[in-house]
Amino acid sequence: MSIYIDPAVAASLRGYEMPEKLGFGTVMAPVMFRAVCQDGCWSRGELIPYAPLSLDPAAKVLHYAQSCFEGMKAYRTRDGGISLFRPERNAARMAHSAERLCMPPVPESLFMDGVRTVTAYCANLVPANSGESLYLRPFLMGTQADLAVSASTSYEFYVIASPSEAYHSGNMRLWVEREDSRAAIGGTGDAKVGGNYAASLLSIARLKQRGYDQSLWLNAGNRQSVDELSGMNFFAVIDAELHTPALNGSILEGITRESLIELARDLGYQVRECAIDIDELLRRVADGSCEEAFACGTAAIISPISVLGDGGENYQLASAPGPVAERLRQALLDIQEGRTEDRFGWMQPVEVISLD
Ligand SMILES: *Cc1c(COP(=O)(O)O)cnc(C)c1O
Repeated sequence: MSIYIDPAVAASLRGYEMPEKLGFGTVMAPVMFRAVCQDGCWSRGELIPYAPLSLDPAAKVLHYAQSCFEGMKAYRTRDGGISLFRPERNAARMAHSAERLCMPPVPESLFMDGVRTVTAYCANLVPANSGESLYLRPFLMGTQADLAVSASTSYEFYVIASPSEAYHSGNMRLWVEREDSRAAIGGTGDAKVGGNYAASLLSIARLKQRGYDQSLWLNAGNRQSVDELSGMNFFAVIDAELHTPALNGSILEGITRESLIELARDLGYQVRECAIDIDELLRRVADGSCEEAFACGTAAIISPISVLGDGGENYQLASAPGPVAERLRQALLDIQEGRTEDRFGWMQPVEVISLD
């Protein structure tokens, strides 16, 4: 299906001035992609000027949280081109999230049209310094105006974009969350949905007052094994091997996680996907056999962890950022920014659209 390009798009892009200070996810590109689905039938996609949405106050998404999203990046590569990183993995994950919430999955071709069209038209907005990127945010929501509890009959799919600086979290101090749970097995933990984030905010607000940065969520079933952070997956280096929690239904399957596992094995590291018992982990940090831990996700790629706080104790990681985290981060960024050969076939170049 062809994509409709609103005639106002060219003027929006020509009149756009990129602010000097970008931050992460705060500056929005002046165009967005949109498609609607009515009773299972998708409209053709359109590129339109960025603008507030018009939503009926009874729209199901506002009451019953029928929505999911993705986070991905377009990178400027060393040859001056622009590439997406494993976008088909995001398309597949969004389809999985949609199905979990009883929403029609966005067809892969429509998802790819959305991220490619926004990237192609926003080529001048993809910043060029290492670590910077055009952050893409596809999302899907149920828009039917009806307070009955049932799946919506109408949906809207959007892709918005944000030219962004490198996301620097610095060394993170994590709080082991022993009270609240973020997501349960059989719930929506393995779907990328806003409700999981909403459930994490109170914990983060509490721990910030105590001087920590992020919660380390435990499995809601056993309250003993590590799941992940609110929006990043968890790795620890134990006796020189990489350990990460095995996917168990309540962990979101991160594409950075998956890529780092492949990359680390390729670089000769032993990687174990297994249950990580929190008390065992804390013991390992205390006795020095775990010197390094980090979180990973699209935004920051890798964020080193310096402290695990639990009860009244602070367990200090010996090395933050540690050598394994630094090596993996550089290796992944070198592929994403086109400095090394893309041995895994992860990068997808985007044909840029010129406005003149
Ligand atoms: C998005 C997300 C991640 C990271 O996934 P990436 O594909 O690596 O960006 C990890 N955990 C949660 C809960 C997430 O929502």
